[in-house]
Amino acid sequence: MEPPLKSIEKRQIGYLLTDWFVKNKRILPWRTNPSIYNRLVSEFMLQQTQVATVIPYFNRWIGQFPSIEVLAQASEEQVLKAWEGLGYYMRAKNLHKVAKEMIKRSVNLNTTELDIYPRTPKEWKQLPGIGDYTAHALASIAQSQCVAAVDGNVVRVLCRINGIQQSFESKNQAVKYVKNIAHFYIPFDKSASYNEAIMEFGALICKPKNPACDRCPIVLHCCSFQKKLNCLQIPKFKKIVYVKRIVQRIFICKGQITILKKTNTKRLHDIFELPLIDDIDKKMFIQEIAKISRSIAYERIEEIIFEPQYLPEDLKILTQNRPSLILLPICELKNITISGPHRRWLDRQLLAYL
Ligand code: SF4
Repeated sequence: MEPPLKSIEKRQIGYLLTDWFVKNKRILPWRTNPSIYNRLVSEFMLQQTQVATVIPYFNRWIGQFPSIEVLAQASEEQVLKAWEGLGYYMRAKNLHKVAKEMIKRSVNLNTTELDIYPRTPKEWKQLPGIGDYTAHALASIAQSQCVAAVDGNVVRVLCRINGIQQSFESKNQAVKYVKNIAHFYIPFDKSASYNEAIMEFGALICKPKNPACDRCPIVLHCCSFQKKLNCLQIPKFKKIVYVKRIVQRIFICKGQITILKKTNTKRLHDIFELPLIDDIDKKMFIQEIAKISRSIAYERIEEIIFEPQYLPEDLKILTQNRPSLILLPICELKNITISGPHRRWLDRQLLAYL
């Protein structure tokens, strides 16, 4: 369906959004000091994570790695530890790789200078962990390029403004659709703030569940509002069918010692987690003590935690010939990086032992 707004009106909407942004934007640490490095760190952290969660992590990160040089020189262990709790650890690893690559190329990202490599979305996309959205966001927000960055917020806002009622198969399909119209809204002389403006507008006004149409600066241009469409159903997505997966884990703790497993997958390399029952191939009398549930993409994962009723005197017996399993004093848990849900669960569970 051809969106109904005329070109001039689209550009006008872009101007209205940037004016609104100047007056209403939140004060965020990466906006207070908008060096390209700070923007890069914030974009990596904001992938899959909300602003309120990111702020304390960002501040701690910049305290520990204040520049691209310091980050490049840090060990992977330090980087993962600083990221612990934000999840999706590949982001931390890729950010570390980007820092090393920049230093190799003698690029200083601790600047607000616009004309440095990488500059275009195409150049940004050549770096590890930088996909289409992040590349466009960095080129536009940090370097004033006249390109549109399209995330979930932008999809929602532009679909509502245009009254788009078609049903999308997936988020990717919706992003692809909206990318064809997004650049028409960029004001020629305000491209840097436009992308941030429309994302902020989507986060604060045109929200998914309760859009504040009574405070909307573009209400007169919004087809959904003017045609009295149900904007809560825009954009429309086909129902996701989740696949349920049950994972059985085991919590082994004796005295001041726990057993954890060092994972060795591409996604979670060098991160610790509770061992799977299969990791301890010893017939034990076990009892269910907890459940951890989470969703990743199309999977609903239910992790059932079991505790053995009886343990051998010497826990080393359980880790013999299993190099991925480690015996760890509880007081050292704070020094290693544990996957987010397991860290939260252990922190609660182990309170009794401390
Ligand atoms: S009028 Fe309401 S639905 Fe339309 S853009 Fe504004 S907040 Fe969103």
